[in-house]
Order: sequence, then structure tokens, then C-alpha cells
Amino acid sequence: MNGAVMYAPGDVRVEERPDPEISAPTDAIIRVSAACVCGSDLWPYRGVEELEWPAPMGHEYAGIVEEVGSEVETIRTGQFVVGSFWASDNTCELCRAGYQSACLNRVPMGALGAQAELLRVPFADGTLVATPDLPPEDLIPSLLSASDVLGTGWFGAVAAQTGPGRTVAVVGDGAVGLHAVLAAKQLGAERIIAMSRHESRQRLAREYGATDIVEERGEDGVAKIKELTSGLGAHSVVEAVGTQESMLQAIRSTRPGGDVGFVGVGHDVAIPGMEMFWSLVHLHGGPAPVRQFLPELIDLIWKREIEPGNVFDLELPLRQAAEGYEAMDQRRAIKPLLRP
Ligand SMILES: [Zn+2]
Repeated sequence: MNGAVMYAPGDVRVEERPDPEISAPTDAIIRVSAACVCGSDLWPYRGVEELEWPAPMGHEYAGIVEEVGSEVETIRTGQFVVGSFWASDNTCELCRAGYQSACLNRVPMGALGAQAELLRVPFADGTLVATPDLPPEDLIPSLLSASDVLGTGWFGAVAAQTGPGRTVAVVGDGAVGLHAVLAAKQLGAERIIAMSRHESRQRLAREYGATDIVEERGEDGVAKIKELTSGLGAHSVVEAVGTQESMLQAIRSTRPGGDVGFVGVGHDVAIPGMEMFWSLVHLHGGPAPVRQFLPELIDLIWKREIEPGNVFDLELPLRQAAEGYEAMDQRRAIKPLLRP
């Protein structure tokens, strides 16, 4: 089969890889209908994060089950399924508490390489959620988004205690930030402030439910959020970037007693202790337990109540994956979808 492999920063190739096989009786093999490039794939692409080169790439996937192991009970061949970027048993104590991304038996799907024609999924019963039927073609991008960006943006909004009567600010206008806006709207936020200086992303943020746009960043961005919230700061702030600047911007934009939901993968982020102490904010975040939200998200997509697939503004055949990385790196695309 063909799959994307990163050889070094900036060097992504699609090449022949061995077909995955059932290696545990709880595995499934799926034929990937759609995969995509993630903002977090850009960290190694830009040389910020080291991988063991050459590394198979991709952790977001939706597709059709080809084969299941002998102990798989609920997932069946021929079903269309979506899974999270962590495989999880969904039975351990942490999974049952809703933290499948910290599953005691978790497996990172990125290590298996979802930007490929075929993919092995460990703990098929725990990891995968089947759609009610085979989806129409136009729903596939939205279903794929549930695998990570939508689920992650959703978790950011939930972790920030988004809800009725709350003002929510979102730091970051990538796919996750935009989906945090969508989530905030669905969760009933009263006012949603998207922080973005890119026109096409501002437009999508408004489509998803943003009521205000703030173009300023850093201290100016914080001042603008305060100005919009009677000097108090937002009740809920989603951090969807993962840099020092964005994290401090998020904390400083939150009112005392408010909540920061951080879902950007933090690279060299250090929070000054005294600042955290005096802020009086709640901090909750990390790798999103997407599996917790998948049934609800698939249901909303299936009923066409949300259309998160809009974030895919570039579609390429898998063999042109390198172009997708380049376009995303240069911010020419919000998120490229890859068709095996
Ligand atoms: Zn578990």
C-alpha cells in the first residue's frame, strides 16, 4: 500500500509501505477513505520536534472496516468508522472517566501512520465509532474532522467550561481554534470572540458562530478582550496554538474565576508561578479525549446540524501529500484533506 513518510523536516514522501496486518485479536484494519495533515504534523515538519526518521505520518482517519480480529465484538467488516488519534480500550478506569486520551493501554495512531491506504486500529471496539450507515460523499470531510480537530476544539471549549451566559474567547485560528468556535456555539455560549487576523479564517469563524473578531495579538489582544468584557476578561478562553505567547494571552484574557481550556500542543511553554497564582483562573487541557465526544459529534454531523468539514480548504490525492504539508506550513491552506 501507499503511505506518507517523513524523512526529515520538510521532506515528506509517499511511498510503498507494508500492508498492515491484524497483530492482536482486538485490532481492525480499515481502508482509509480520507486522511489529513494536522497542525501538530507541522512541528516535526518545521524541525521543532524530533521524530525517529523515517516516520510514517498521520493520525486522523475515517474509513471502511476491511477486517477485524477474533475478539472484536461491536465493529464489523463493511462499517464506516471514525476513531480518535489515540487508540483506547474504552474500558479502563481513566477511559470510563472520559479521559480516553490517557487510557492505560493507549496507542498513538500517529505511530501507525494514517496518511495511508490502509490502517491498523488497535482496540477496535474501544477506539472506533461506526456511523449509522455508509455516509454520503459530502459528509466524509466532516466525519474525518471529528477524528481530531473537531474533537479537540470541542474538548477545548468543554475544558473552558463553555456554556449559556458565558463569553468565550478563542486564541488560535487554525482548524482546532475554528472548531472551538463551532463548539462554543453548540454549547450555548452567549458571546464568542475569535482571535484572528486572516480574512478567510475570520469569515469561517463567523460562519461557525463568532460574534466578535479580535485581530490584535499578545498584550494588545488581551487589552482588546478586556475592553469587550467590561474590563474583566472572558469567562472561558480556549488556547489552540501551543506557544508561550498564546498561552499567556489566554491566561491574561480570562477573568478571575474563569477557565482556560488549552489544547495547543505546548512547546516550551512556561507559566510564571506568581502570575498563575494571582490570576485566579482554572487551567484544564491536554491531548483531547476525542473518543468521549465522538458519538455526539457523529450524531450532529449525521443530522447536518454542524458542518465542520468546511475547514478543509484543499483536497489532494494522497500521493501529493507533500504539497499538502507545504500549503499548510505556508498558511495557504487551513487544512488539507488527503484522499488515498
Ligand atoms: Zn482505557
